[in-house]
Amino acid sequence: MYLVFLGAPGAGKGTQAALVSRELGLEHISSGDLFRDALNRGTELGLKAQKYMTRGELVPDEITIGMVLERLAAPDCRNGVILDGFPRNLGQAKALDEAFIARGEAIDKAVYIKVSEEELISRLGGRWVCRKCQAPYHLTGSPPRVAGVCDKCGGELYQRPDDMPETVKNRLRVYFEQTAPLIAHYAGMGKLVEVAGEGTPAEITRRIVSAIDKSRKR
Ligand code: AMP
Repeated sequence: MYLVFLGAPGAGKGTQAALVSRELGLEHISSGDLFRDALNRGTELGLKAQKYMTRGELVPDEITIGMVLERLAAPDCRNGVILDGFPRNLGQAKALDEAFIARGEAIDKAVYIKVSEEELISRLGGRWVCRKCQAPYHLTGSPPRVAGVCDKCGGELYQRPDDMPETVKNRLRVYFEQTAPLIAHYAGMGKLVEVAGEGTPAEITRRIVSAIDKSRKR
C-alpha cells in the first residue's frame, strides 16, 4: 500500500506518519527528514537544501524529486510506504504519478489531515524536536517529562530554525499557495481521504486507519 500524507506544516503529518506506518507495517519516508539527514552529514545536497529550508521555502524540484524517488526505489519500500511531506506541489505530484506508472503501480490513497489555521500557528510556535530520534514535543500540548530532554532516547530537544515565527508565516503561505492544490489533485483521482486532525495522537491514528480501511472497501 502506498499512501501520501497531506496537510499544512503543524497538522501532525510527521507524528501520524510514524504511528500509522508502525501500525500498518509500512516504511515511513519524510522528505524533510531526508534533507535534515543530508545536512547533518554535510552532503552537497544537504547544503544546497539548507538555504531554502531556513527561509521556509520549498527546495527546488530538481533536487527534491530525485532524492525522494531514489529512496522510494530502495528494497525496503517494496511492501508499501507512507510519504510524509512529499509531494508538496503539482510538479512533484505529477513526477510521483509518472514514477508509479513506470513501475506498474499507483498511489492508493492521499490522507489529508485537516487542522484550522489558528491551531497550526499555535502548534508550530511551541514545537520542539529531538535532535537524535526526531520525536516531536509541544511545550504545552505534549511536553517532555524533563525539560529539554527526549523521553524516548534521552536526546537533546531543539527548536527547528524553520519553526521561528517569521519562517512559520512563510511556510504557511507556501503551503496554501503550492501544496493545498494537491487536495483537489487527489480528490479528482478519487483517492482523497479526509481526517480531522484535532484530538490526541492516538485518536487521530485510529481515525486515519479506519478511514483508509473504509475507503479501500468502497
Ligand atoms: P518538513 O519537515 O516536511 O516541514 O520540511 C522542512 C523543510 O524541508 C521545508 O520547509 C522545505 O524547505 C523542505 N522540504 C521538505 N519536503 C519538501 C518537498 N517535498 N519539496 C520541497 N521542499 C521540501
